[in-house]
Formats: sequence, C-alpha cells, structure tokens
Amino acid sequence: MSLYVMKFGGSSVGDIERMQRVAKRIADKQDEGHRCVVVVSAMGDTTDDLIDQAKLLNAQPPAREMDMLMTTGEQISVALLSIALHGIGREAVSYTGWQAGFRTDETHGRARINEIVPRRVLESLERGQIVIVAGFQGMTLSGEITTLGRGGSDTTAVALAAAIKADVCEIYTDVDGIYSTDPRIVKNARKLKEISYDEMLELANLGAAVLHPRAVEYAKQYQVKLVVRSSFNYNEGTVVKEEASMEQGVVVSGIAYDKNVARISILGVPDIPGVLAQVFGKLAGEGVDVDIIVQSGVQNGTADFSFTVALGELDRAKAVIDSLHSELPYREVTSEDNLVKVSIVGAGMVSHPGVAAKMFDVISREGVSIKMVSTSEIKVSCVVEAGNLQQIIQALHTAYDLDTEEQAYVGGPQDRR
Ligand code: ASP
Ligand code: MG
Repeated sequence: MSLYVMKFGGSSVGDIERMQRVAKRIADKQDEGHRCVVVVSAMGDTTDDLIDQAKLLNAQPPAREMDMLMTTGEQISVALLSIALHGIGREAVSYTGWQAGFRTDETHGRARINEIVPRRVLESLERGQIVIVAGFQGMTLSGEITTLGRGGSDTTAVALAAAIKADVCEIYTDVDGIYSTDPRIVKNARKLKEISYDEMLELANLGAAVLHPRAVEYAKQYQVKLVVRSSFNYNEGTVVKEEASMEQGVVVSGIAYDKNVARISILGVPDIPGVLAQVFGKLAGEGVDVDIIVQSGVQNGTADFSFTVALGELDRAKAVIDSLHSELPYREVTSEDNLVKVSIVGAGMVSHPGVAAKMFDVISREGVSIKMVSTSEIKVSCVVEAGNLQQIIQALHTAYDLDTEEQAYVGGPQDRR
C-alpha cells in the first residue's frame, strides 16, 4: 500500500462528466489498495472568468479581495469531487487550503508557503477517507486568505506530498507527460520516460508550462517523486526525479521556447565602474525582471549592452532607463519585440563538447541570425526572430536526435499555464 497525492488540473475537472471520470480514477487507485490525497484546481477556465468579472467592476481590484474571489474556484471543485466520490460509495472529505494546514506569508496573489500542518489530512487518512484539498490557496497567521500565484495547484500538491511523506505525487493533466518539445509545434515530439529535477526546472522556467516551476523546486528540495501523466488515458507518464538514467548518448532532452521576450539595448554607455549595477539595480527596484544580459567590448571609452525582459514589461523597463538618462549619459536606447527565446536543455551537455556550436550551426542553416545567447551547465538559450520558430525547433529536434516515429498524443484542451 502506498500513499499517493494525485493532482488534477482545471481541464481534467472541466465539466461534470470529467469530474465523474476523475472520481472513478481515484476510486480505482483506492481499489488497488492505496491511500489517496487529491489536490484539484478550479474547473476549466473558472479562475480566468473570475478575474474577468472583477476587472469589469474595477480595473485595479485589491489583491486581498482577488484572493477571496479566486479561492472560491477551487472550493467548488473540491466539494463537487467529494460529492461525486460519495455518489459512487466512497468515503471522502474535502478541505480548503487552510483546513488542510497551508500557512503562507502575507503576499496576496503570490504567497509563499511557510509551513504545512496537515493534521486533519492525516486524521482523515487514518479514518480511511479519501482527502481532497483545494489547490493554490492558504492562509496567513493572522487569518487572511491567500493564493500561491497562477498555476499554483501543482505547488500545493508537491508541498503536501512532502509534508505527509507521500510515496508519489502524480500530476494529472491533458497531455501524456513531458515531451521533448511542444507537440503542437513538432508532430513527432518524443514523450520522455524520465527527466531530472534540474532539467525539468530549466524547461519549466523556459516556458514549458506543463509544470509550475515552483512545484519542481519543491520536488527537488524535498525529493518528491513526481509523475506527470494524462487524466484522459492510462498511458505511462513521465517520471521526474533526481537522476534520470540517461539514455545512451542523449545529450539534449528537451527544447523549450518562450515568445514572451523583448530586447532592450543601451548604446554608448560610458565605461565607468558601477554602471551595470546602477542600471540593473534600478530595474530590480522597480520590480522589472531581467533575463539575459549581454555586454559588448569597450570602444572609445563607451560600451553597449543589451538585455531581455518579459514582453509585458518592455514599456516599464524603457521608462526606467529613460529616467536614468540624467545620471547616465548613454547615446541611445533601442528595443525589439518580435522575438523568441529557444532553449535546449540536457544534463548530458556537461560532458559533451560542441553542443552549443551545433545549435548555432543549425539555426544559421535556417537563415536566422542569433541575437543573444545565454548558457548554463545544462542549457543553451538563443534569442532569435519570432517568425521562424517552428522551423528552428523542428530543425533542432531532428539535429539532436529527438524525433520519434510516433505521433504525439495531445488530448483535451490545453491545461497549460
Ligand atoms: N486555478 C488556479 C489557476 O488557474 C490554480 C491552478 O490551476 O493551478 O491559476
Ligand atoms: Mg496548471
């Protein structure tokens, strides 16, 4: 007998029929002799719909009230799922995040979990009940309701799995597992049997939205074995764990892309110590997240540098740079937004030279110029023009031997965020 945490995303419980199917799936697991704690998201697009409604009333709704509003979505799901389980003769009990013991900090809209006190969850398990916990929510010490940030139910599931020492945390979604790349872009993308936490973390951060990055961080920190699989079929999923046993010769495991990038270049900046600290300190102070930074060589006492930010932050970032002009006499600022960041990820890169060179070669053969590059031990990212995305990813996928014979299964509406 094992203790499972099973997490079902919004599209997996998108309507009554799917809810019923999920209940059946949980009952099957119990019949196999396992104990189950279930985490669910809000049904379908509920969270988006709630946000839209709030915005109709107020363009800038207070964060505290938004948390009150958004947490209702998950409360509906847990109650309905429990009702469905009772309907098929199972003992189940639903809990809100706070009832399940999720204590968070005070940051409405993206609270962090400080502590989980899963007393009631464990007591219910003792009684033989199936426990259903609302994803993405918690409470502060002073009793305020909080949410963990969009897509946060994955984090709820993994953190709870760690807190109750579950044997496995299964993330049920609408794709069969983690793919070598987005199956909507590359038809013969390969489903990975396993992947390491570090690789998964890179992919999640780079825009492969099947798992929330914070959930992967938790899983790594507490060594929670994760399985990502479909709620629409019984195919084997992808196991995420510490060391994935690397297939012979596999250097690159996955290719991710992110369309949410814009580049800013500051040209003719005086080359004096502290300039970078000044610019990026100011951006950080204004809450602008900077990703890739590239500085060119110094000529005639001035330097150029470029960096990327999320598309939605471009205007704000430019305003910050403008505001610096009186203190920092640069020559010019340019920006570009029709870009995409393409990244290859693989733990095998460390021991294989020439991986990045091959990527540059493949991209240049597609006639695309590379605007920026950034690397880590297990990834190489290139920022290129957005127009050629599909072509580039397909070419890289083939070049790194990731193509398979099979067509990827892509079920249901996309449960990706
Ligand atoms: N319902 C929340 C959202 O849509 C949390 C989640 O689905 O993980 O972001
Ligand atoms: Mg999700």
